[in-house]
Amino acid sequence: MNATTDFRALGAPRFKTVVFDVDSTVTSIEGIDWLAALRDEDVARESEYLTAQAMAGEIPIEAAYMRRLDRIKPAASELLMLADAYQQSLVPGMRELIGVLQRARVHVHLLSGGLRAAIVPMALHLGVPADRVHAVSLSRDIDGRFSLLDGEQPLATQRGKPLVVQRLQLRKPIAMIGDGSTDAAVRGVVEAFFAFTAVARRENVVKVADAEAASVDDLYPLLFEVP
Ligand SMILES: [Mg+2]
Repeated sequence: MNATTDFRALGAPRFKTVVFDVDSTVTSIEGIDWLAALRDEDVARESEYLTAQAMAGEIPIEAAYMRRLDRIKPAASELLMLADAYQQSLVPGMRELIGVLQRARVHVHLLSGGLRAAIVPMALHLGVPADRVHAVSLSRDIDGRFSLLDGEQPLATQRGKPLVVQRLQLRKPIAMIGDGSTDAAVRGVVEAFFAFTAVARRENVVKVADAEAASVDDLYPLLFEVP
């Protein structure tokens, strides 16, 4: 299916709420790695390594999180640059799919261990309201850099995603779509978890998924009845 997809040609939606991961799902980049690439090569390499380890479930995300943040210390202007990079890197077809879901009155939420300040502008561009964006908020350190978590930030932790989904009391049935181990961890508290592998494919994530979608087109029959 393509940009001209008409939801009236699709069957009824299978879910009342669809929750999307952001990095390597809605967009093809990993936001924190993108920021790290603004620094020197060592920081970029270390960040990528930590992200890969965390997403593969080999180390808890909280261990990776503070380490990366402390090394990168993003400035406000860099978070705006990342917001722009996110919008330039949308996975083809994602914007249309989210539009189709919302016109079919499905609640779409974005759930991310990434940085809220950079994700909200992209969400608004996708037509997802800011109160349906759940991500990590940072606060400034003494140098004005965003190197600190703004209070309790469950999404910077390994079990954060299922915890937040439960707290939100979303309309059921709920589908979760993502590429990482933190997305797969949501499976126990939703009706379906779909591994989205168009950007990154991880065997441990696919193994526990109800289905694998290798492209946005693959998501349509999972999210809508086939008429
Ligand atoms: Mg991801």
